[in-house]
Amino acid sequence: MANPSLLILPGDGIGPEVMAEVRKVADWFGSQGLVFDIDEDLVGGAAYDAHGTPLTDATMEKAQAADAVLLGAVGGPKYDTLDFSVKPERGLLRLRKEMDLYANLRPAQCFDALADFSSLKTEVVSGLDIMIVRELTSGVYFGEPRGIVTEGNERVGINTQRYTESEIARVARSAFELARRRGNKVCSMEKANVMESGILWREVVQKVHDEEYPDIELSHMYADAGAMQLTRWPKQFDVIVTDNLFGDLLSDLAAMLTGSLGMLPSASLGAPMANGRPKALYEPVHGSAPDIAGQGKANPIACILSFAMALRYSFDRGDEAARLEKAVEAVLAKGLRTADLLGEEGRQPVSTSEMGDAIVAAL
Ligand code: ATP
Ligand code: MG
Repeated sequence: MANPSLLILPGDGIGPEVMAEVRKVADWFGSQGLVFDIDEDLVGGAAYDAHGTPLTDATMEKAQAADAVLLGAVGGPKYDTLDFSVKPERGLLRLRKEMDLYANLRPAQCFDALADFSSLKTEVVSGLDIMIVRELTSGVYFGEPRGIVTEGNERVGINTQRYTESEIARVARSAFELARRRGNKVCSMEKANVMESGILWREVVQKVHDEEYPDIELSHMYADAGAMQLTRWPKQFDVIVTDNLFGDLLSDLAAMLTGSLGMLPSASLGAPMANGRPKALYEPVHGSAPDIAGQGKANPIACILSFAMALRYSFDRGDEAARLEKAVEAVLAKGLRTADLLGEEGRQPVSTSEMGDAIVAAL
């Protein structure tokens, strides 16, 4: 059988720096017999510099064909004045759109060694491991009509929240499938009390549950109450599924329960491919961090944990993913910290590559 294929798009800013550490990790797995066919290509500002476009058609085709895509970060001040149509971010948006990645997965997982780093009390976050599934391709960010129009003597800003049954059903399935591999529990969040789309959302999620996933525990919560519960006692949740707008807010909120941006991975999944696994793009939550790029200060863990998600969801290597996560935990437990994980205390941070080396050694 062919080796699993991975397209790596390091991108801009700290993207190439953190991706170099992922390569070390992938090479280690290769030395253990888990060999990936890795191809590397340009995206974002790097692609613009070379080709005048943030994503070439050839790269797009490679992304469609790969078992998984791993992206570093795109953008930077150098590209701020570019025309909107060739901005680095457009490369990422094109990937998401053409791969039709409708389910955005963002874990909020608290490593014990960092529990005291959270803004919440240690007992609230220690051992926390939840997953937010955000619908990514529809809802109020895309609904028509939209625009700023003039009515009488004033202007009106208009957006439309719109969801079809099939859009709700497919992201609900992603959440239930995920729950099956985790704690068998899904909480769906909307505002069915005040929004028509919320009423339909609740109805469709319940129907998909009853017909296809009756074994999973399903609850419904209004999204505002959900925000409150997430800060009060987040460990009550396992998988949360919600729409594009609420997911945008709730996933940021949940993410920060755990500390630094430098720790947070994400996955964006689409429809199943011929191999049964979903189309998938993995990337750290953080951006290109131009303020620290090129200085060896970036924390590579978010990108390394994104690779762990790829192992689990695209390559069916849950044991290897867990092993990698344990290696990260072990290195943190030993006290190694990149600068973003140190508060005011005068401890010496490790560099990007020292962190990567330590994780490989722990593996
Ligand atoms: P974008 O618009 O691309 O999301 P942004 O400006 O919102 O970018 P980031 O680029 O993620 O956000 O940077 C936000 C802050 O977090 C910066 O100060 C950056 O240095 C810091 N930061 C982001 N990622 C990391 C990382 N991996 N390691 C250390 N610090 C990081
Ligand atoms: Mg940002």
